[in-house]
Amino acid sequence: MGTNTSRQHFISNLAGNLDNLREQGLFKKERIIASRQGAEVVCDDGRTLINLCANNYLGLSGDESMVQASIEATEKFGYGLSSVRFICGTQTVHKQLEQAIASFLGTEDCILYAAAFDANGGVFEPLFDENDAIISDALNHASIIDGIRLCKAARYRYAHNDMADLEVQLQAAADKRHRIIVTDGVFSMDGTIAQLDKICELADKYDALVMIDECHASGFMGATGRGTHEHHNVIGKIDIITGTLGKALGGAMGGFTAGRKEVINTLRQKSRPYLFSNTLAPSIAGASLSVLQRLSSSTELRDRLHANTEHFRREIVALGFTIKPGTHPVVPVMLFDAPVAQKFAARLYELGVFVTGFFYPVVPMGQARVRVQLSAAHSIEQLNTALAAFAQAGRELGLIK
Ligand SMILES: *Cc1c(COP(=O)(O)O)cnc(C)c1O
Repeated sequence: MGTNTSRQHFISNLAGNLDNLREQGLFKKERIIASRQGAEVVCDDGRTLINLCANNYLGLSGDESMVQASIEATEKFGYGLSSVRFICGTQTVHKQLEQAIASFLGTEDCILYAAAFDANGGVFEPLFDENDAIISDALNHASIIDGIRLCKAARYRYAHNDMADLEVQLQAAADKRHRIIVTDGVFSMDGTIAQLDKICELADKYDALVMIDECHASGFMGATGRGTHEHHNVIGKIDIITGTLGKALGGAMGGFTAGRKEVINTLRQKSRPYLFSNTLAPSIAGASLSVLQRLSSSTELRDRLHANTEHFRREIVALGFTIKPGTHPVVPVMLFDAPVAQKFAARLYELGVFVTGFFYPVVPMGQARVRVQLSAAHSIEQLNTALAAFAQAGRELGLIK
């Protein structure tokens, strides 16, 4: 590589920035799992851990039924398509999955993407322009923020979950052609559920559309797991729903946007991550289809997840820990102080429990925590073992009596 000083400078700059991250304790290290994803995982150091930090809400990620469904789809449809959808990349299984997602969510149609990040990245620019207004919750997911950046619409931001401020922003955007309110259905750091009943009322009052990102809701929120719109009884009132196949709905990867057929058809013509990126692998499409069939015929997994969530929330509070109150399977166990959160997570690892500490800038200063995520795959015995470890680590660090 010799004498190119620009290159040397570039690399040494990066090395310096990485060292700074390490010094500030902000460097993200990845633990390496040597087993399937599940209620328990085996790490590459041979340790078996109870896993409380996956988005594996329905416990399907490592489940044998998913492995078999993906093998069946691979045998029938092959490994991949080597094409985008509109050239020669659409198979019957992709159309069936789109119809199954639409019908599960109560929308007319649905379009698949390689990830929810792409669904959010490709949803705004084809549908809205400089005549329109996008009104976004301040804590919306990074992929929503990036998607909005790619579009020429005027941007309005309302304080997180603040309906009075949302109303102010709607008034400020009153002269625009179309207004759309955009929110995560559930915010993953706190497990906060968006107030969709109130949001839909405000949308009607100010003549706005509503879009929700259901990545932490599809498959288990609401009485039959349809999502936050079912939880708040506003099915049919949401204009655009984006979501992932990479969390509750199987856990591999893939995303979607659902809504009226005119919306979805426009995205098929114009959405760049759809037009210029490869078709979802048939194994994922087939296995995801089997998940939706299963969830449509039984609420068993969803019910078990909520029973586990109630148990953990009740018992962790009984031990003396502070949590963010709520009902979602994301349970933030508040430690407030960043080094304490790191020590606590490290001690839990030694005690056989896998959780991750979150601290500034991922969460606000002074709000450090470990974020527990429950799964339908956890047994009550596993949760009780994990709770005993929380109690031991908490006493050792003087956090509880
Ligand atoms: C995880 C997540 C995404 C991204 O989903 P992928 O399918 O992994 O790209 C988008 N939005 C929200 C709210 C998420 O939690």
